[in-house]
Amino acid sequence: MARYTGAVCKLCRRERMKLFLKGPKCDSMKCAIERRPYPPGEHGRGRIRESEYLLQLREKQKARRIYGLLERQFRNLYGEAARQKGITGENLLRMLEQRLDNVVFRAGFASSRNQARQFVRHGHVTVNGRRVTIPSYQLRKGEVVEMGPKAKSMIVVRHNVDTLDRAVPAWLEVTGPELKATVRDLPLREQIDVPVREQLIVELYSK
Ligand code: SF4
Repeated sequence: MARYTGAVCKLCRRERMKLFLKGPKCDSMKCAIERRPYPPGEHGRGRIRESEYLLQLREKQKARRIYGLLERQFRNLYGEAARQKGITGENLLRMLEQRLDNVVFRAGFASSRNQARQFVRHGHVTVNGRRVTIPSYQLRKGEVVEMGPKAKSMIVVRHNVDTLDRAVPAWLEVTGPELKATVRDLPLREQIDVPVREQLIVELYSK
């Protein structure tokens, strides 16, 4: 599946906020937002004409970039969220959280969602004991995600587990030594701490 390969920090600068896409660099003074807190490009520091559409677009782009999805994948996921029962915006965020790469990230096994995605793609992650190499795999309640035997001894993974001080959401249960994460329940909206106003995304796609 295709993925974005361009400059990552530009995405944060475009959204005028830290999206934490680069792991440890995001918490350091090397973060591009600390040094250049304005959108990239020649007119980055110019005046922007605010509009309802622009607000909705920025909110959608922000969500898409935080979770590392391309437009078509995001749009398809939205379509699925709209078909489900309940509030479409919340369904969308819940499905984004239930992605396998996101759970590897949330559990603290990877420093960024990009790195988590690479672990999954390279076959280092199992679900219920079976190797799964699809980052968009939707986890269900009760499923167990575990780092593979080789990954458990990888320096980068050990470093992440030892140094990342990430708060694990209540819907996940992580057992440290085994590098195992169990989906206790499906995430509720209040347990999803991304700075996204999902209603604006729904408004954008409902036009
Ligand atoms: Fe965004 Fe991280 Fe780059 Fe800072 S270092 S601009 S938070 S990706």
